[in-house]
Amino acid sequence: MAPQKRSRLYHAVCRECSVERVFDSADAADAFVTRHVEETEHTALAERVD
Ligand SMILES: [Zn+2]
Repeated sequence: MAPQKRSRLYHAVCRECSVERVFDSADAADAFVTRHVEETEHTALAERVD
């Protein structure tokens, strides 16, 4: 049986401007969102995509 090797991507997107970026780890996506929110006071979020 082959191990499941499913890449997990995390899509960080801002609801208030056009910033969006894809990361391969939740930590990286969260860090990006946190920084963007701190810098701009925008509402941004990270969501996992398959
Ligand atoms: Zn923004």
